[in-house]
Order: sequence, then structure tokens, then C-alpha cells
Amino acid sequence: MSTAQHEEFDVVVVGGGPSGSTLSSLVAMQGHRVLLLEKESFPRYQIGESLLPSTIHGICHLLGVTDELAAAGFPHKRGGTFRWGANPTPWNFSFSVSSKVSGPTSFAYQVERSKFDKILLDNAVRKGVDVRENRTVTEVVEGDDGRVSGLRYTDPDGTEREVSARYVVDASGNTSRIHKQVGGSRKYSDFFRSLALFGYFENGKRLPAPNTNNILCVAFGSGWFWYIPLSDTLTSVGAVVRREDAAKIQGDPEAALRNLIAECPLIQEHLADATRVTEGQYGQIRVRKDYSYHHTNFWRPGMVLVGDAACFVDPVFSSGVHLATYSSLLAARSINSVLAGKIGEQRAFDEFEARYRREYSVFYEFLTSFYDMHVDEDSYFWSAKKVINSDHAELESFVELVAGMSSTDFDLSDAESGALRLKQRSAEFADAIDSLVDQREENMAPLFRSSVVRQAMQEGSQVQTRAQLGEYAGDDIPVFEGGLVASSDSMFWEEPDPA
Ligand code: FAD
Repeated sequence: MSTAQHEEFDVVVVGGGPSGSTLSSLVAMQGHRVLLLEKESFPRYQIGESLLPSTIHGICHLLGVTDELAAAGFPHKRGGTFRWGANPTPWNFSFSVSSKVSGPTSFAYQVERSKFDKILLDNAVRKGVDVRENRTVTEVVEGDDGRVSGLRYTDPDGTEREVSARYVVDASGNTSRIHKQVGGSRKYSDFFRSLALFGYFENGKRLPAPNTNNILCVAFGSGWFWYIPLSDTLTSVGAVVRREDAAKIQGDPEAALRNLIAECPLIQEHLADATRVTEGQYGQIRVRKDYSYHHTNFWRPGMVLVGDAACFVDPVFSSGVHLATYSSLLAARSINSVLAGKIGEQRAFDEFEARYRREYSVFYEFLTSFYDMHVDEDSYFWSAKKVINSDHAELESFVELVAGMSSTDFDLSDAESGALRLKQRSAEFADAIDSLVDQREENMAPLFRSSVVRQAMQEGSQVQTRAQLGEYAGDDIPVFEGGLVASSDSMFWEEPDPA
């Protein structure tokens, strides 16, 4: 192995998934020199196919890929259909009812990630990012002052290279090799400690219109299934089960998936005439575990974590790509502001970290409520997923995550108050779903008024409105007392107008 020439960039990004391509494009669009290193060659397989509107109409709009996404022919996702909760009747959650995102942008896409991620990565190249595939990043380099100053990576021919940059961005997902270099540690959730087993099917049934392309989520005794239409005929099907039930997915994965499907009549019925795909990128049945965690630090001078390298909650309700691209927008604003000399580093990255923690916590609460509302006393999965059963360490970890955020919504002092709040919000959410089911979906307003749903939709719709309307969206307002606001083009942080 030989060491070759040393290069310099403003920013070097590790990973070409949605978080890496988003951040690198948004920084390169300001004229900065950005290098993106990706260990694989795109298109490559990835899970996480059901998206939220703010990613499509907010961040993808800022990236300039709206037309390309429309031309790709991804199914339009109007919302979600859930067989979930105390009532056996499936209920629908439609994006169009949330007032801020209603109208022509009140949908998202169900995407084949190999295609979606490649669209975003090719776009990064067009925006001026130096994208190099088949490069594995091996370590982070620190300067004498203790600041992260670059990294080392390996070329396809085995040559080790070193590159320096003002900022190293870890966007390398849940398998990140370098996240620890930011300091602190990765904390795994006890509450969301599940495993997922998933595969792909041709010719599965579709829901009746207008919900044909909704994600279908179905709770059953051992956990829940996702059923995501990826085209007229292709469907992604996955089971999420408790870690303690890992035995159910050990051994022959084909038999394991078949047995779980047999436990869940609605999914079984949808797959009655379907055949499992056995070739190509969808031919394998895959397992994922240890995916629910957050890193205690999100940045240090010279280094920042975005996307799954920083945190992920749980597959239910499609928050992964939202958090990945949203965190990249926040980090890009911080980097752009510092490189342009507009805002000091500490202040710019404190804003990034506070907003990112807040959004993660909002989804953490929302998804906790989702699990808490399922009443099935006979099922180990659902009874163990009650907030009331959460152990103290988990709640302390939640309070720690939220701590330091001065927004009144997040004023928690200890695990007790954290538990109480999770319980209250879960109960409110369950009531809103019950009334939705009772009224047969004519009025979704109580659901969108419930705290957890309102908060989960709030920042995404802000991002979307700002991306669509620019300066006509009006001035951004600080999320935290004394905090910064987004510029009208969304690319920078600014001090709020004192008036
Ligand atoms: P990734 O998409 O993982 O991209 C990271 C990239 O970094 C990869 O291309 C990788 O090759 C590269 N890389 C890694 N190490 C190195 C290295 N050392 N050097 C160079 N490159 C490297 N999210 C949703 O929004 N909707 C869903 O329906 C959904 N379902 C999910 C189901 C399951 C079971 C799980 C576990 C997750 C799901 N997610 C979902 C989450 C989603 O998969 C992730 O949140 C999302 O992919 C994160 O994007 P990212 O860009 O941060 O990371």
C-alpha cells in the first residue's frame, strides 16, 4: 500500500446516501469545494422506501430534482393505511389533511432506493460535487489543535489517500466506522429494540383507490408488517419483531418470512396470488437489527454527523429519510454560514444540533405513541411495547436527548416527567385515532391537532413552505429563545430581525 498526493477541500462528505448527497449539493451550490466519498458503486440497494412530503417538496425542491423525480414514475403516496390500535377497522392517514401541506404537494413517493439515491447522487455531480465511488473512508485526521482536519480513505486499487478539509461530514449511515470520532457515544434504544425481516413480492394486491399507493402497516401478535407498493406489481414486505423473538427469524429466512405472514391474515390475503422475487437486488430476504439509537454528540469542531450516522428511531411512519435529509439541510446551513463568515461556528452548529435533537425527539415521541396505542394484552410484543414498561434508563436517555433545548415544548427535567409526558401524549394520540375510526375518516382534524402529530408535521411543513415560497414564505421565526432563523433561500442561518 502506498500513500499518494494530499488534496484539500472545503468539505469532505463520507457516504452517498440521501444525507450525504443532500448536504454536499447544498454546500456546493454556494460555490464551495466539496468531495464526496462513497464505498459502493451506485445504484446500490438500500431499505427505507416510503417517504414523507417534506423530503420531496421541501428538500428535493431545493436540490432541483423535482422534475426528475416526477419523471421517474415512483408511485404517489397519499398517506398511510393502518390496521393498528384497539379498533380492528383499518384507518387512513392522509397528508392532505394537514393544512400546511395540502394541495398539489400533499403527497410523497414510494421509492426504489437504488433509483432515488442515484438521482440525488447524480444531481450532486451536476451541482459541482466531486463524487468518487468505490472509496472506503478508514479514519478521521485531527490537527495539532485537536480540531478534525481531514480523513484517510482507500482507493479501489488499495492506495491510501489523505484529504484535508474545513469540515468532515459523516453521512455513512448506521454502519459508520468514524462516528465515534465526534466524541460521546451511540446510545441504543431499549423501547425500539426490534428486528426487521424483509423481502420483495410480485403481483401482491393493492388497496382500493384512492389509497392504492399508501403504505399499509398491519399489527399482529408478533409485531407488525409494512407493505409498500414500489410499482404496479412490485411490493416491499417486511416484518418487525421484538428482539426477544429473534428465534422467529433465525434459520431459513424464506420459511421465517412465510411463517410470519401466516400469522397476519391481512398481509397473507394481500400476498395470496403473489410470488417472492428471488433474483437481482430484490432476490434476497434481509434482516436488520440494532437500528434504533442516537449519538450523544452531533458535532465537534471540524466534524458533523448527519442521517443514520447520527440517529434513527424506527421504521414505522417513514421518518428515516426525512431525518437524514432534514439534518443535512440544517448542517449545510451551518457550514455555509461559517464558510461565508456570516455566523460563528459554535453558534451555527449549536442551532444545527438543537433543531436536529428536537426533530428526533418529536419523532421519538410520535413513534412511541404509535406503539403505545396498540391494545393486545395477549401479545408479548405489544404489552412489552407500552410506555409504562419502559425502563428508567430509556426514559433518562430520552430526557438527556431533549435536555438543553429551551423551547417550552421540550422543557423536561427528569425521567419521571419524561414518562408522564410520553404517557399523556400517547393517550391523546390513541383518542384521536379512535375518533377518526368512529367517524369513518370524514374528519381527521382531531388527529392533526393532537400534540404528537402536530409536532411531527410542523417542522417538515415549515421546510416545505420555505422551499416552495422562498421570501414569500415570510420571515422564519426562531425555534429556540435567542436562536437563529433560516434565510429566505433556506441555505444559511441568520440572526432574527430585532423588530
Ligand atoms: P444510508 O442510506 O445508509 O447511506 C450511507 C452511505 O454511506 C451508503 O451508500 C454506504 O455505502 C456509504 N458508506 C458507509 N460506510 C462508508 C465508508 N466507510 N466510506 C465511504 N462510504 C461509506 N426510512 C424511511 O424514510 N422510510 C422507510 O420506509 C424506512 N424503512 C426502514 C426500514 C428498516 C428495517 C430500517 C432499518 C430503516 C428504514 N428506514 C426508512 C431508514 C432509512 O433506511 C435510513 O434512515 C436512510 O437510509 C438514512 O440515509 P443516510 O444517507 O443517512 O444513510
